[in-house]
Amino acid sequence: MSLDSKTPSGPLAAKWDQHKFDLKLVNPANKRKFDIIVVGSGLAGASAAASLAELGYKVKCFCFQDSPRRAHSIAAQGGINAAKNYQNDGDSVYRLFYDTIKGGDFRAREANVYRLAQVSGSIIDQCVAQGVPFAREYGGLLSNRSFGGAQVSRTFYARGQTGQQLLLGAYQALCRQIGLGTVEMFPRTEMLDVVVVDGHAKGIVVRDLVSGEITSHSADAVVLATGGYGNVFFLSTNAKGCNVTATWRAYKKGAFFANPCYTQIHPTCIPVSGEHQSKLTLMSESLRNDGRVWVPKRKEDCAKAPASIPEADRDYFLERKYPSFGNLAPRDISSRSAKEVCDEGRGVGPGGLGVYLDFADAIKRLGLSVVRERYGNLFDMYEKITGENAYDVPMRIYPAVHYTMGGSWVDYNLMSSLPGLFVVGEANFSDHGANRLGASALMQGLADGYFVLPYTIGNYFASTKPAKVATSHPEFKKAEEAIRQFTNRLLSIKGKRTPTSLHRELGKLLWEKCGMARNEAGLKEALKRIPELRQEFWKNVNVTGENGDLNQSLEYAGRVADFMEFAELLCTDALHRQESCGGHFREEFQTPEGEAKRDDEHFSYVAAWEYQGLDKAPVLHKEQLVYEEVHMSTRSYK
Ligand SMILES: Cc1cc2nc3c(=O)[nH]c(=O)nc-3n(C[C@H](O)[C@H](O)[C@H](O)COP(=O)(O)OP(=O)(O)OC[C@H]3O[C@@H](n4cnc5c(N)ncnc54)[C@H](O)[C@@H]3O)c2cc1C
Repeated sequence: MSLDSKTPSGPLAAKWDQHKFDLKLVNPANKRKFDIIVVGSGLAGASAAASLAELGYKVKCFCFQDSPRRAHSIAAQGGINAAKNYQNDGDSVYRLFYDTIKGGDFRAREANVYRLAQVSGSIIDQCVAQGVPFAREYGGLLSNRSFGGAQVSRTFYARGQTGQQLLLGAYQALCRQIGLGTVEMFPRTEMLDVVVVDGHAKGIVVRDLVSGEITSHSADAVVLATGGYGNVFFLSTNAKGCNVTATWRAYKKGAFFANPCYTQIHPTCIPVSGEHQSKLTLMSESLRNDGRVWVPKRKEDCAKAPASIPEADRDYFLERKYPSFGNLAPRDISSRSAKEVCDEGRGVGPGGLGVYLDFADAIKRLGLSVVRERYGNLFDMYEKITGENAYDVPMRIYPAVHYTMGGSWVDYNLMSSLPGLFVVGEANFSDHGANRLGASALMQGLADGYFVLPYTIGNYFASTKPAKVATSHPEFKKAEEAIRQFTNRLLSIKGKRTPTSLHRELGKLLWEKCGMARNEAGLKEALKRIPELRQEFWKNVNVTGENGDLNQSLEYAGRVADFMEFAELLCTDALHRQESCGGHFREEFQTPEGEAKRDDEHFSYVAAWEYQGLDKAPVLHKEQLVYEEVHMSTRSYK
């Protein structure tokens, strides 16, 4: 099978408008004849479900939380980008496009990124119309701040709770449709398989997480909006429930998985405090607008109280190395720089795995009340977790797994390689390339859900005229039976290790061998160890409780079982990509200054993997990245 990105021809700036015109339409009276399943109710899923229902389609929406409002999107702190140029500081659609392409280390599809920048302004208008309380200037105009990898202020925010406020907006829109009867909502329901009939996705099999009942739902198209898989590393900033199950099981049914090795490590997280820990906490990138990152110049000073170290003995390493962007260097670069100084023995805090993020200068310049107003809830959160008051002593931060740029491969219409299966938001691989710039995930999720999918899905219906399939079809029955067997198998092992302990071991292995830096020997070691660990899981896991009622141990074990398989693909992808780009840093491929060294001649492609069976090597398909508008250059933030 060859990959066709379906990127429209014509000038970059005109592609989306022309494409929208060329797409076939479904007449308003016919829309109600089409059923759509949306799995996920985060920003991508809720915006898609609400928009599709508003258009007239019949929608079923599923999530595993008790309420759509609890999707992980609620955790997003810092903000959402849009090329509004409200600050009159030189922003434009083209600049947002260019920054995003460059930020992704020239490994994203040009046309998708341009479209993202084009619709970014409409997202803000939509959310304001919904009542999202974005921060405003004294005079009432919307306020902006800066995020990494940009030299303009284009990030719209609601204090440190932007995701929560945006999700409330999308949730309200979803609730309106639920009230109108156009969306049927299924909370506490986990999708465990995609059902394929005659080569098209025709529905899903789900497990009711309260009763354990396994049922099928059929539709004319299935949309996955199931978020990212950062938790494969066990410790991450993601909500504990985030997982790879939906896209992984879709992969096994024919939806290629693209660029799984592109993981984003966020520089601004609270450092790990010990082996007991099960979660890491993000300190928003927005803090780098005013906080200054430093470590002592000399190892001997690392144990001293930070206030006692004079200016001359401090190394503001981001400002030193990247004077143009300073503390707002992109995440991959800032993370690696922090690792570098800690590897040199100049890290601070327990285990030497931390750097300071210092607000003393900002407090002097702006006053305590302004700093509190901008970041108060983040400082409170930091104090609750560490017991330290960051107004008095600098925060300590260290990089942590945060976001996954890889995901289901999708074409320009957001359809996966499995016809009828669309994938939106963090679950797809699309717009960020090898590194995501801050504040662009919310933008992408909402662009997909509000402004792209509602156009493209209609074209699928109008051009394929999908046949209805009932849930009595043998393919549904087969998938249901396979899930029952999978569940019973998990419950029957009664081994000695908890799903958590096995997941922790897998995560540690991945972090060490395929984390902020990777090399061939380490990846080969991981690829040998992962199948052993998977075997250990299936021999020795202990899943407590029963199937017939709420059993979070069982839910979790199923997700860990998928991580155990997926981890192998992640490392396979990292091993095959013999270059460094963005969040994928192969130690063998670096410049003398320690920067990522790309190999555009051999690797400027999207790696989309096709499943062949559990113990068989996946097949690699390459989507060549053609840059018509921008010139692939070495990324420099100096
Ligand atoms: C701490 C933190 C802060 C962040 N801050 C920012 C920020 O400031 N700006 C920014 O742009 N980005 C930020 N991000 C990234 C951003 O929040 C996410 O990428 C984005 O919210 C993902 O949205 P989504 O709708 O794709 O997925 P999610 O919000 O993760 O939603 C996934 C949905 O899928 C459902 N689901 C998953 N699997 C299944 C299944 N098998 N069956 C049924 N339902 C399923 C879940 O129930 C949920 O409803 C942050 C991320 C983190 C971790």
